[in-house]
Amino acid sequence: MKEPWKFHLLSMPMMEIYAYLLEKKLVTPIFARQRDGAPLPGFDPCKKCENHFRAEGHSLEECIPLKIHIQDLIDNKLLQFEDLPRPDVVTNPLPPHL
Ligand SMILES: [Zn+2]
Repeated sequence: MKEPWKFHLLSMPMMEIYAYLLEKKLVTPIFARQRDGAPLPGFDPCKKCENHFRAEGHSLEECIPLKIHIQDLIDNKLLQFEDLPRPDVVTNPLPPHL
């Protein structure tokens, strides 16, 4: 399934980007608003989001406010992926089968 949002292709796991942003104080966790009535479509009580103080319903990878925030940081050149430590697997994502 394709995402409705067009975001910069993130070359790292969201968890690592998030840890980096926290360290650089470029992100602040946000409180999830209490919702009345039925949960949002896609709500999954098994998932927790660090950006929402581990509120239930979605994972960090699925956190739309976080993605928008990261896109903002990239657009404003506050976050540049050249700054991030790059795991080796990114340069060679498909090792040949021997
Ligand atoms: Zn979230």
